[in-house]
Parts: sequence; C-alpha cells; structure tokens
Amino acid sequence: MTRVTAHGGGVWSIPVPIPDNPLGHTLVHVLETDRGPVLIDTGWDDPGSWDALVNGLAECGTSAAEVHGVLITHHHPDHHGLSGRVREVSGAWLAMHPADTAVVQRTREAAPQLWLDYLIDKLAAAGAPDDHLAPLHTARAAGRGRVLPGTRAALPDRDIVPGELTEVPGRRLRAIWTPGHTPGHVCLHLEESRRLFSGDHLLPGITPHIGLYEDPEQQNTGDGPAALNPLDRGDPLGDYLDSLERIARLDPAEVLPAHQHAFTDAPGRVRELLAHHADRLADLRALVAARPLTPWQLAETMKWNRPWADLPYRSRNIAVSEAEAHLRHLVKLGLAEPLPGSRPVAYTAV
Ligand SMILES: [Zn+2]
Ligand SMILES: [Zn+2]
Repeated sequence: MTRVTAHGGGVWSIPVPIPDNPLGHTLVHVLETDRGPVLIDTGWDDPGSWDALVNGLAECGTSAAEVHGVLITHHHPDHHGLSGRVREVSGAWLAMHPADTAVVQRTREAAPQLWLDYLIDKLAAAGAPDDHLAPLHTARAAGRGRVLPGTRAALPDRDIVPGELTEVPGRRLRAIWTPGHTPGHVCLHLEESRRLFSGDHLLPGITPHIGLYEDPEQQNTGDGPAALNPLDRGDPLGDYLDSLERIARLDPAEVLPAHQHAFTDAPGRVRELLAHHADRLADLRALVAARPLTPWQLAETMKWNRPWADLPYRSRNIAVSEAEAHLRHLVKLGLAEPLPGSRPVAYTAV
C-alpha cells in the first residue's frame, strides 16, 4: 500500500521506494494541471518502484498514462530513473536543466572503460593508496566497466530555464537554478501557494552530498597546470552555499523535499546547513594548517558517520570527493593552496 500524502491545492506526494538504500524512498510530487498531472521527479528504475508510482497515481485519482509532463530536479537515478518509462506510457515531455542533461548524455555515451580510467585517475590524483586502486585496476584489466545506473537514463526533450515559469498549464511554477548537489539541480517554486519543491537541495534532516561535478572527459592527473589549479574545475561547494542563500531569500511558506517529509522555516534550515559547512571548512583548514595533506589524507582525518576503517569502499570514494570539494572552496576563499611540486597534490593553509 502506497502512502500518498495530499498536500492540498492539487498537490500530492507519492513515496517511491529506492531498493537497498537507507534513504528509503523518493517523494514524487504530483501537480494537478488543466492538461493532466505533471510530475516532479519519477523515482528509481525498479519494478517494485514502478508499481508504487502507478498505485500512487491511482490513489491521486489519475494514472501514469495521463501524465502531461515531467520536471526533473536533477539527474540522479532516484529522481530520473523512471522518467523514460513514464514517457513511454503517456507521451509526456521530460524537462531538465541543460547542465544535468549534459551529464545524462555523457553517461549514456561514455564507454564503461572510460569511467574506470576516470575514477582511477581521480583517486590517484587525490592520493588514494595502491590497495584502494587495486580492485579498479583488476576490473580495468579484465575489461569490466563500472555499471552505472544512469547508462539507460532517458534523454529529456525540454530544457528547464532558470528564472522562468515552467510550461505547466494553469500553474505558476518557476524554476530556480540551485547548483551544488549536481551542476544542474533546480528547485521549483509554486508561486500561487509559495511552496517550494526542493529536490535534494534542501532536506529537513540530511546534509546533501556535495562532491565534484563528475566529468570523465576531464582528466585529473598529468603534468599540465590543471593539476595545480583546482579552481579551473569549478567550486561545487561554493555553488551550493550560494544556492542555499538564494532559497533563504525566497522564504517559501512550505518546502516539499524529495526525501523525508515536508517542512517549514526554510531560512532556519538554510542557516543550519551554512553553519555546518562553515564548521567543516574551519576544521579542514586547521588540519591543513598543521601539515600538508592530500585530499585522501584529509578524508581519512575528517569526521564521518562512522570511523574511516569501517567505511565501505564506495563511501570512501564519496568521502574523498566531498573532502576535495571543501578543499577547492578553501582555495577559492584564499585560505588554502596546493603545495607546489607535491604529487599527489597536497594542500596547505594560507
Ligand atoms: Zn541527488
Ligand atoms: Zn535523492
């Protein structure tokens, strides 16, 4: 039984399960319009998840076949996974910010080997030890590629244009570009009721992962100046903090996030998250002030939800990416810098 929540004003949320994931489910939002329901996100591509979405739409008094359009907050598979299937049964349009559409395109086109090369290069550049890289080299040599959930992801047919009203008949739903969690993440503001669909940007009890914007065509190693100029590759944490402030200024009456539950006081939640990242940046700066550290060494020293030794393999990769995003932001603020000549690059406080 799907537990659909009616939020009033022709807005519902359907919890769509994410198999084997502590997050539990994605909240797919349904918006009633003059031309049929518009969905905000679709959920993970899995038969059980599809059934939950179909049953949920029936509880809302509609069906997957009647869906008029789909707006995707960002490309992650727990948000965009079922979009292709929804389009297949309904003929609905799919819309996404072009920066995330570019990620979908790259993921579909990139050979699995390219992803492995990219991952090996990235981890080696961050200072990962040989024993961490060994399984990747083995997979590379055996001709196996990382199987990404996004390799079959649907290509959107429309762009979400930041600052503009989306093409939702009879509704005023404005797109707000909130890069950080992904380069093309958007929140959607339903202006008639001042409700904000916040995707993964603003969640009531979870700090979203801010890592690097993955691009396998951008290599991290090599002798070029890129290795010493991390800002050439963007500042996702800086983007995220700016995006948070944009949402605080908007001050929506209610936030409908893609995980957990609806909440109010967006500015209060933004303050908590800004304080969390400020603390984390101060801790990191103190660590690199004590001695130069590579991103890997920094990740080993940082506080995670469990001791480093107990972190699963993939969580370590995510942790290093998060450490690197914080380092890049410190560099941008002029509070840290790469140590010239170090390889892998170590960082020191300024
Ligand atoms: Zn996400
Ligand atoms: Zn998510």
